[in-house]
Amino acid sequence: MTEGSRKIALLLLSLLLALSVLLSCILGGALFLQSQQQKDQAVLLANAQAKAAQSDEAAKQYQETIDSLTEQVQTLTGEIKTLTKENDELQAAAKEKENAPAPEEGALSPPSQESVFSKQNNGFTVAIDAGHQGGGGDSVQEPVGPGATETKPRDSGGTEGVSGYPEYALNLTIALKLKEELLERGYTVYMTRETNDISISNIERAAVANDHQADVFVRIHANSSEDPSVYGALTMATSENNPYVAGDLSLRSQSFSQTLLDAFCEATGAYNRGVMITDSMSGLNWSRVPCSILEMGFMSNADEDAKMQTEEYQAQMVQGIANGIDRYLGRNS
Ligand SMILES: [Zn+2]
Repeated sequence: MTEGSRKIALLLLSLLLALSVLLSCILGGALFLQSQQQKDQAVLLANAQAKAAQSDEAAKQYQETIDSLTEQVQTLTGEIKTLTKENDELQAAAKEKENAPAPEEGALSPPSQESVFSKQNNGFTVAIDAGHQGGGGDSVQEPVGPGATETKPRDSGGTEGVSGYPEYALNLTIALKLKEELLERGYTVYMTRETNDISISNIERAAVANDHQADVFVRIHANSSEDPSVYGALTMATSENNPYVAGDLSLRSQSFSQTLLDAFCEATGAYNRGVMITDSMSGLNWSRVPCSILEMGFMSNADEDAKMQTEEYQAQMVQGIANGIDRYLGRNS
């Protein structure tokens, strides 16, 4: 080989080498680009999958929210239906009331200290006296009967239970319950008092019954004895010889007292101590209508004291008193 041809051959070889380097560079670049693209695609795919998963989760949550809202709507619909029904019933009741005949005059008078009118009047009037009052009695004197020179305190103050419960409070509790029961039975009822915070004398109490010409005047009391073993119920009425009570009023009061006591003991099972005849009670002496003091039981007896404070026994006592009034006035009960 000549020098010239060797140079040419070397040159060609060099060119070839340079060309192959260039080609491999281009190829490498292309490969790199391709892998980069694949990588990018993979990332995009991963992102897309993640997004799809996220949207799946979101869709699930939306579905749950919709389910919960549907349930709430169903509950509310139910409530609306119930309320609509109640409203319809109320409207029907109001309409019925509107069409009902107008009540008698005075029938809707609000309960007051002295007069209460019943809704279906049975024609009879009862005066109720809750014995004594708060404040420990009233020692100011008043005549024991019309025209009497003998006097007694306006209010003796009453007794107190073994439990410490005051008689005046028990008397008022029973008197108020009796008022409700008698109103239910159609009576017109007058109360001498409806609060413990009052000062009203025995003469003033009788005046409530007299002024309203009550058919009967029932005076609610509870008893006391020095002997704690004594128990039972009794009533009090004036004697036929009472100087302040005219005609047959004492006999009528005695009859009322007997009927009242018997009905009371029937309803309560209390021991019947009989009718006590006495002319020393101002309230009885001043009464112009059949009148009785009911001593419901002995507060000095622990058992009877506790019993008289129970709702159950109080209901029985009230039924017994109301039955006695019914019976004396010839009404069935
Ligand atoms: Zn008393």
